Amino acid sequence: MVYDVVVVGAGPAGCVAARYAAEKGASTIIIDRKREIGKPVRCAEVVAGTLPSSFGMKNSSEWLVNEAHYFNFVSSKGRVVKIKTSPYVGYVLNRDAFEKELLWMAADQGAELLLGKTVTGIDSKGVVMGDETIETKTIIAADGVDSRIGRLAGIKTRGKLGVLGSCAQHTLVNIDVDPDCLEFYLGSKFAEGGYGWVFPKNKGEANVGVGILRPHSQGAYGVLEKFVRQKFPSGRSIRFLSGCVPSTLPPNECVSKNVVVIGDAARQVNPFTGAGIANAFVAGKIAGEIAGDVAVKGRPLTHLKEYDRLWKASLERKLKKSYKLRNRLLFSDRNIEMFCIFLNILPAFLIRRLAKRLHY
Ligand SMILES: Cc1cc2nc3c(=O)[nH]c(=O)nc-3n(C[C@H](O)[C@H](O)[C@H](O)COP(=O)(O)OP(=O)(O)OC[C@H]3O[C@@H](n4cnc5c(N)ncnc54)[C@H](O)[C@@H]3O)c2cc1C
Repeated sequence: MVYDVVVVGAGPAGCVAARYAAEKGASTIIIDRKREIGKPVRCAEVVAGTLPSSFGMKNSSEWLVNEAHYFNFVSSKGRVVKIKTSPYVGYVLNRDAFEKELLWMAADQGAELLLGKTVTGIDSKGVVMGDETIETKTIIAADGVDSRIGRLAGIKTRGKLGVLGSCAQHTLVNIDVDPDCLEFYLGSKFAEGGYGWVFPKNKGEANVGVGILRPHSQGAYGVLEKFVRQKFPSGRSIRFLSGCVPSTLPPNECVSKNVVVIGDAARQVNPFTGAGIANAFVAGKIAGEIAGDVAVKGRPLTHLKEYDRLWKASLERKLKKSYKLRNRLLFSDRNIEMFCIFLNILPAFLIRRLAKRLHY
């Protein structure tokens, strides 16, 4: 089998990359080790409301379950800052249905899908899956937080120790939540070196989770159990999940020869919030279009280097600002209190601007 573009990983980054490569006319295949796309869900399921439509997605009740118009920040000392984010709305998703939609959009453009296959290596011809090889010009590595493909190509995706956030989440029912408000709990009372979140999916139902950046004797699970006991003692869990998010900056170079690394694999995640879907979309589109151009416009392989220039132009500044915020806020109760006081006195239009940034 020979393809112009092989995409490893059918998460948001891989699906978007495959869609745009195929749209350019490149023969494209996505390979994923999962047997069913979107499952198991490992996500708090929130994106900015502007994201889906800016990538041509039409809202559907299959994947859009709630729209929130407020953020709440709550500090350890009980200081509450309520921010109206309109016109920027927060969407709460059914992530599995959302990912399936992304895959259908790629398939609509002609991308093929190979499920239940693990890419075990790369060689000069293409990608290797045990004793099978798929030949290709370009490999797009969208293989998520535990990516190996980038490293095999010599790209420094590993980063320093302690740069992975550890997360745990229950989807709770039988709880009293305001469906119009996404809540962030900052400070050592809730999740030292991280934060807790309450993202309502419906009336009486929410994703309640924690993410921590420092090792904790009881791990993220222990921190979550304490948070849930504090906030929702009568809640009942209908789903539990855990996972890791990159909380560092991307490597300087995300291209090596014919390999391009995108999404979580390239650490293109907001290091403060841990949100990575929007950046995965942005990087996926850039990588897909460039790989498509190499395939169909006869551009040389060195043209792939353009990807590094373009993702940096779109994302690098925001990522660096978020990284600074992460370092200043998440490890200091004092700074969190100051941040809340500052938010309370900031004019509404600046708050909305900040909210938009944080959200991404
Ligand atoms: C608990 C938690 C909550 C989160 N909440 C949010 C949120 O609310 N909002 C937000 O924006 N972000 C959130 N994130 C981050 C977000 O989920 C990721 O940033 C996003 O999924 C990145 O997409 P991706 O396509 O790069 O990687 P992934 O979605 O991880 O996809 C990678 C894919 O590659 C496949 N794969 C890996 N290795 C191989 C291989 N060798 N061969 C074949 N297939 C392979 C995997 O099976 C997987 O399907 C959260 C993360 C966690 C862990």
